[in-house]
Amino acid sequence: MDGVDKQFEHVYAPMAGIFRLLDDVPDPAFAQRLIGDGFAIDPLDEYVRSPVSGTIINIARTGHAITVRSHNNVEVLIHVGIDTVGLNGRGFDVLATSGQVVSKGDILIALDLDLICQESASLLTVILVVSDHKVSCTGTGREKISPENAVLSVALRPVAGRDTDDPQQQNSAAHVQLSLRLPHGLHARPSGRIAQLARSFDGVITITYGELTADATSITALMSLGTKAGSAIEITAVGERSGEIANELARLLDEIADLECRGIIPQLPSATPGKQLVNIIPMSPSAIPAVVASHGLAIGPVHHWDAIDIEVHEFAHDSEAEQRRISNAISAIETTLEDLIKNSSGASKSIAEAHAAILLDKSIQAAADKFLLHGSSAEHAWRSASRAQETALEATGDQRLRERVIDLRDVERRMLAQLTGSEATTMPPPIGSIVICRDMPPSALLSLTKGSVAGICSAQGGATSHAAILAASKSIPMLVAAGDDVLRLKDGTIVILDAETGRLDPCPEPESMNEVAKRISMQSSEALTLMEATKNMCRLADGKRIDVFANLATLDDAHDAIENGAEGCGLLRTEFMFAESLKAPSETAQKTQYRAFAKAMKGKPLIIRTLDVGGDKPLAYLPFPDEANPALGMRGIRFALAERDILRTQIRAMIQSVPGNQLRIMLPMIVELGELLQVRDIVHSECVSLGINHNIQIGIMVETPAAVLLADQIAAHADFLSIGSNDLSQYILAMDRGNAPLAARVDAYHPAVLRAIKQTAEGAAKHGRWLGICGGLASDYKAAPLLVGLGCDELSAVPGAIPRIKHILSDWTMDRCRALAGRALVQQSAKEVRALIAGEML
Ligand code: PEP
Ligand code: MG
Repeated sequence: MDGVDKQFEHVYAPMAGIFRLLDDVPDPAFAQRLIGDGFAIDPLDEYVRSPVSGTIINIARTGHAITVRSHNNVEVLIHVGIDTVGLNGRGFDVLATSGQVVSKGDILIALDLDLICQESASLLTVILVVSDHKVSCTGTGREKISPENAVLSVALRPVAGRDTDDPQQQNSAAHVQLSLRLPHGLHARPSGRIAQLARSFDGVITITYGELTADATSITALMSLGTKAGSAIEITAVGERSGEIANELARLLDEIADLECRGIIPQLPSATPGKQLVNIIPMSPSAIPAVVASHGLAIGPVHHWDAIDIEVHEFAHDSEAEQRRISNAISAIETTLEDLIKNSSGASKSIAEAHAAILLDKSIQAAADKFLLHGSSAEHAWRSASRAQETALEATGDQRLRERVIDLRDVERRMLAQLTGSEATTMPPPIGSIVICRDMPPSALLSLTKGSVAGICSAQGGATSHAAILAASKSIPMLVAAGDDVLRLKDGTIVILDAETGRLDPCPEPESMNEVAKRISMQSSEALTLMEATKNMCRLADGKRIDVFANLATLDDAHDAIENGAEGCGLLRTEFMFAESLKAPSETAQKTQYRAFAKAMKGKPLIIRTLDVGGDKPLAYLPFPDEANPALGMRGIRFALAERDILRTQIRAMIQSVPGNQLRIMLPMIVELGELLQVRDIVHSECVSLGINHNIQIGIMVETPAAVLLADQIAAHADFLSIGSNDLSQYILAMDRGNAPLAARVDAYHPAVLRAIKQTAEGAAKHGRWLGICGGLASDYKAAPLLVGLGCDELSAVPGAIPRIKHILSDWTMDRCRALAGRALVQQSAKEVRALIAGEML
C-alpha cells in the first residue's frame, strides 16, 4: 500500500507549496492543534490531492475541507484556507465524492486560488491527522514541498485492515481472463467506469496485464497498465460476491467497447483539465521568506515607509479643557470617516466603519477620562487608554484580535495628529516602489491606489489584518511577517516581491526579473481584457445578446455589481433584510431599502424576489411549524401566501419605491400556476389601491421539478422564468443541499439538472418568455456557454464573476454553445459534464 511501512503511515503534501508550521496559522483552533496535529502549506498549485491512499469519509458542503481515511485508519483532514466556509463553495470545484476510494495523489478538489485569495482571510491550507494517532512532522519551516514529499509520519496502532492474504478471502477469489476489445485500451473513460464499479465492491479487485497489476479502484493505475485493443488481461476479485463482481466488470468492459466501436461515447479529453500550475520563479539564496497577504508579483526599488511617531506632552492643567479637546478631535475625525464611509465601498468602507467604531468606543473614552482626571494631557490620556486596550488584545493570544492592534494604533495616530495639528502619515511613497515598513497602518493604505505602489512588504503584521484586506481589494501585492531583515534593506535597492510563493528577493538574477516582468505584463493584459469586458453589453461572438445580471443581497453588492459591469439585477434576495431584524421590517423600512437598490442599480432592471424563508432559512420572529422535513415544508411562496400580510406589505413597498419599468417581481419555489395567479391578483389590487398604473412584470423561479414539468403551462402567464439551480439540483437529485456528506453530489452539472433546464427553456420559448438562471451554476464562468446553449437568455451571477463570464461568452457562437449543450445532455454524470467542459475550455 502507498506510503506505508510496518509501523508508520506517511502523509504526503496534498499540493505544491511552501511548508508552514501549524503555529503560523492565523486561526487559534488550528495553531493550538485543537482539531489535530499536522502542518500547513501556502499553496502554489490549484489542485488538492489525496495525501494518503484510502477512502474519502467527508467533504464539507462548501467544498473547502475534505477528510480521507487511509487504509490504516489514519484520518487526514485537509482544510483549504482560513474562513473559507463563508465562500459557500465558490472557488472550490470538488472532483471527488464521499465514500470514494482514492489513491495517494488523486486530485480531490480544483481551486480557484485568485477567488479564494481575494475573498477569504488566508489561503493557508491545513493538513491535520484527526484520528487518535501520534504524528511527527519532517518539515521545519518555509521550504518548498510537493505531493511527492511525505511530510508527516504517523505511528500506527495495530488495526484490522483489509487483508488480501486472508485465506478465507483467498478462497473466494474469482478470475476472469479476456481480450480487451476497447479500441484505445483502458484510457480515461473506461478506467473511470471500471474504478467506479470497483469502488462499490467491499473486497479487492485488480486487473493484470502482462507483468503489471493495477488496483481497479485507481483510474491512474488502470491507465498506466498501457493496454491496447486486443490486450489479454485478467480480472481478479477477492472477497464476498467475487465471482459476480468479476463477471460484472467483464460485462461492463464489453458494453463500453461496443459503444466506443460505434463511436457513441465521446472521448474524454486526454489533457488534465484546468488551469496551468503556477511555476516558481527562481530566487537568489538571500531571498527572504514571508507570508502572502495579497497575491501578485512586483519588481521595484525599496522605499522605507515609517509611521510618524508623534511626540506628546504628558501633563496638562485643565482637565475639562483637555476633555473638550478630545471631544472636538473625535468629532473632526468622525466627520472625515463618515465622508469616507459615504464615498467608498467594499473593504475601504468596512475598514473606515471599523475605525469609526474604535474612535467612538466608550471604554477607550472612559479610560482616557480617568487619565485626564489624573492630570494627563488629552494626547497622553488617549494614547494611554488606547495602549491599554492594545495590551488587552495582545493578551488574548488570539491572532485575529492581535492583528486588530494595528487598527487601534492607527486611530490613535489620527487622534494625536488631530490634537497636535501634525500629519498622521509621511509623504506618499514614490510610484512604482516596493514599500517596506515595520507594520502597515490601514489608514496609510486607504489613500493608496492600484498602481501607485508596486508592492508592500512589512516586517510584522498578519495575513488577516485590515491592511492585508485593503491591499487585496486594491490588488496591491503584499507580504507580511517578513522579519526585521527587510528593514535593513537600502532605499532604492531593486527587489522582486513574489506574493505568490511568499518571498522577497533583494538580489534578483536578471533572468528572474525578466520572468517576473513578463508575468506582470501578462496578468495586466488579462485584467485589462476583463475590465474591457465589463464595459460592453454581453454579446456572443456572433453578436447575439445575452443579459449578464448580478445576484444581490446588500447594497455593497449592488455597487460591486455596477463596477463589474452588471446589466441588471437578476435576483435580489430580500430575506436578509428580514433575517437581520428582530421583527418584520415595516413598509417604510423596506421602501427605503428597495429605493436604495434601485438607485444603486442606476435604473437597470431590478428583479426583487419576494420573501423566500422557511426550509434552510428560518426567521427569529416567526415561529415556523415544527416540520420533519422543512425543505419539503412551508417555504418560499407557500409561506408567503400563508402569511399574506407580510407578502402584501412587501409588494406595496416594492411597487411604491422602484420605478415600474425597472421593477420585476420574482416568486420563489413555485409548483403550480395558481400560486402565480394569486400573487398577480395581490399585485394588481395593491396597485389599484395605491393608484399606481404600471404593468409590473412578474416572473417565477424554476426550482422544483413541478415547475420544470409545467414550465410551458406557467410560462403562458409569467413574464419571465429564472432557474434556481441550487434548489433545482436539490429537488431533482433528491439530495439535501445542506447535507455535508452529499455536498459534492448535489451538483448542478448533473445531466438530469441540465435536462430540466433544457425542458424549462422549451416551455418558456413556447410563449416567447425569456429564461434566466440565478442559482450558483450561473456564477461559474465555465458553465456560461453551456447555459446559453441550453436556452438561458440571462445569467445572474455574483458580481465578481461577471467580467469573466462576459469575456468567455464573447468567444463563443450560439451554434457552438448549442453543440456543447447537446453533448452535455448525453453525459452520464456531473463529473463527465465537467470533464467535457474542461476539455472545451482548454
Ligand atoms: C436557488 O435555489 O438556486 C436560488 C437562487 O435560491 P436560493 O439559493 O436563495 O434558495
Ligand atoms: Mg432557491
